Amino acid sequence: MGNAIIKCNDCPRRCNADRAKRVGFCGAGVYARVAKTVAPFLYEEPILGELTAVFFSGCNLRCSYCQNIAISRSTSGAECDDARLAEIFDGAVGALDLVTPSHVLSAVERALALCKTERRIIWNTSGYETEDGARRASEFADVFLTDIKYYSSDLSRRLSSAPDYFEHAKRAVKVMREKRDVIVGEGKTAVMTSGLIVRHLVLPDCVNDSKNVLDFIAGELGTDTYISLMSQFTPNGAGGPNRRLNRIEYKIVAEHALKLGFKNGFFQDITSADSKFTPEF
Ligand code: SF4
Repeated sequence: MGNAIIKCNDCPRRCNADRAKRVGFCGAGVYARVAKTVAPFLYEEPILGELTAVFFSGCNLRCSYCQNIAISRSTSGAECDDARLAEIFDGAVGALDLVTPSHVLSAVERALALCKTERRIIWNTSGYETEDGARRASEFADVFLTDIKYYSSDLSRRLSSAPDYFEHAKRAVKVMREKRDVIVGEGKTAVMTSGLIVRHLVLPDCVNDSKNVLDFIAGELGTDTYISLMSQFTPNGAGGPNRRLNRIEYKIVAEHALKLGFKNGFFQDITSADSKFTPEF
């Protein structure tokens, strides 16, 4: 796709918007806006290794409880033409972690074509992708770090205005699963150089939905899939749910994961249910 996007249908929203003239649901124009880069950025999954996180403005999902609401609903940050975006990518220390990038896929593709440095690339996505989008990303992404947020269409409609979330996420993650898991090193020095990690944030009052998500991963992707079960939900004061996750809820979901027999994964201490993993914008 050239500089002028003709009728964007890059994600399941399929706005068919000419982004040179108007923004679609995601709020993005032709060029990506970079709200912030953070290096080093530490994730709950140490296996991601050293990386620079690039946070883009706008989002194609816009969950009511978004922890990055200051950027996901706004046009904060500098608009970067393709050359400037390539410069930012080239300046990354360690891997290049593209955070919630689905709505700027075309801009990322154009910028990567201009980059001078090859590096490990992490496609860090909400999971609300088309199969085609996941295939395009797999052309350059080494590691997929994807959410599977919901199983229930009623829940995804209520919290993300996306009743078709799981229908798309399940197909996209199967494309991502085609990437072979490669882990270099052992113990604390282990780094995933290629592969897939599926994240799931357990939401208050949604234990059964979380279990359904885990059943899907175990049954369709395999219990050797790297999972990251997160407990850090924090109300953002802007939309529901409006309470934190409690210990019992997380324990039930974590025990379900263990019962299913997942071999590779990361569990979070429930004390992480504060804002320490939320970057400031
Ligand atoms: S990327 Fe943005 S403009 Fe394109 S289809 Fe998705 S929400 Fe619409």
